[in-house]
Amino acid sequence: MELPPLQAGTLYLVATPIGNLEDITLRAVRTLRDCDLVAAEDTRRTGSLLKHLGFRKPLLSYFQFNEARRSEEILRRLAAGEKIALVSDAGSPGISDPGERVVRAARAAGLRVEAVPGPCAVIGALTASGLPAGEFHFVGFLPRKPGQRRRKLESLLGVPGTLVIYESPFRVEKLVGELAELFGGRHVVLARELTKLHEEFLSGTPAALLQIMQKRKLKGEFVVLIGGTAAEPGAEEIEAEEPAEPADTADPDPEVESG
Ligand code: SAM
Repeated sequence: MELPPLQAGTLYLVATPIGNLEDITLRAVRTLRDCDLVAAEDTRRTGSLLKHLGFRKPLLSYFQFNEARRSEEILRRLAAGEKIALVSDAGSPGISDPGERVVRAARAAGLRVEAVPGPCAVIGALTASGLPAGEFHFVGFLPRKPGQRRRKLESLLGVPGTLVIYESPFRVEKLVGELAELFGGRHVVLARELTKLHEEFLSGTPAALLQIMQKRKLKGEFVVLIGGTAAEPGAEEIEAEEPAEPADTADPDPEVESG
């Protein structure tokens, strides 16, 4: 099939693997290969991905603390006709990752923006969790300050559909404790290490999950899902799946395994 070339003056939001390096679309590879510049959250990490794909590109760092300045530069270069790919460390740029600011600015300036969709932890976790996916509310990361965090969690009590939260491995046990207080009767799923060797789904009430976490130190990256108010049957049961058989996966962030 003859594919159209990349368009001049376009910002491409390219999703990259969240663990398994095979999870990159053909279009993502072509976009990264054919663009003029890759704006990356972490140039070293993206450099390793490009090396794995077999090519190099000029890289520009674009992360939370230089977003404003870099957005201006990206806009100038787009206006001059460059084709720019924006990637984050993992998954979809703009989803709990930098990207939103430059997209808004590019659109406001009448420049072209295209998504090159692919891996995204919220979608992987939700679709494989067994919780209803028809209506869901993506929360992203909760505030860290205790008062703000508590108020945010309380504000979610009445929100319909499945709630999806990103949490750092260092705070996930604390979060499950908070859910035991506020969302005690709900069905909760912990989606751990998606697409990686030790991928695992743990499901049950927050109190039961907390018991497991106190016995077993769970490492890696987590998405925390909370079933809607009409809890799914079986919330009282714990179904902890055994980690999948070692698959032919490559983890771009091996430190996460041991962290
Ligand atoms: N942009 C990314 C996406 O599209 O999902 C999310 C980036 S955010 C900085 C990182 C958070 O996403 C982690 O703390 C975790 O909650 C979730 N996450 C990313 N990769 C994951 C994985 N392989 N397994 C489980 N959760 C993951």
